[in-house]
Amino acid sequence: MVKQKIVLRFPPHLVEQPTIYHLIKDFDLMVNILRADINPKKEGRLMMELSGEELNYQRAVEWLKEQGLRIMGLEQQIIWRSDRCTHCGACTVICPTEALAFNRPEMTVSFDEYKCVVCELCLKACPARAMETLVENANSR
Ligand code: SF4
Ligand code: SF4
Repeated sequence: MVKQKIVLRFPPHLVEQPTIYHLIKDFDLMVNILRADINPKKEGRLMMELSGEELNYQRAVEWLKEQGLRIMGLEQQIIWRSDRCTHCGACTVICPTEALAFNRPEMTVSFDEYKCVVCELCLKACPARAMETLVENANSR
């Protein structure tokens, strides 16, 4: 028996596919959705706990990858604490994907989590400790 919390990232063309249905029906897994962020025709994210037989879980993971979904552990999610951010811009210089971007003329920083590739460079670069992993974030609350 395995019980695993994961995050699934869906490309836009897969957002409306019955992925959960297949996990339950084809792989006999129990699916507990912890958080969902799904928008039609945009990239989506599902945080869920999967439980079931180890072999079924492994087969389901392979199937999900074959479908083009990204599977990430909870520690691989980056959180922007806007309440701590001073909009100094330091992170925008080192972020390789422009997930952290400086907006003009507002002179504010914004975070687009769908562009984030979890390189973690911003975690060390931020003087205000406004960038965290999801696990750090959960532990600090
Ligand atoms: S983890 Fe990397 S890609 Fe993601 S926001 Fe931070 S610097 Fe940008
Ligand atoms: S380095 Fe930290 S405080 Fe500065 S803009 Fe980026 S997230 Fe905000």
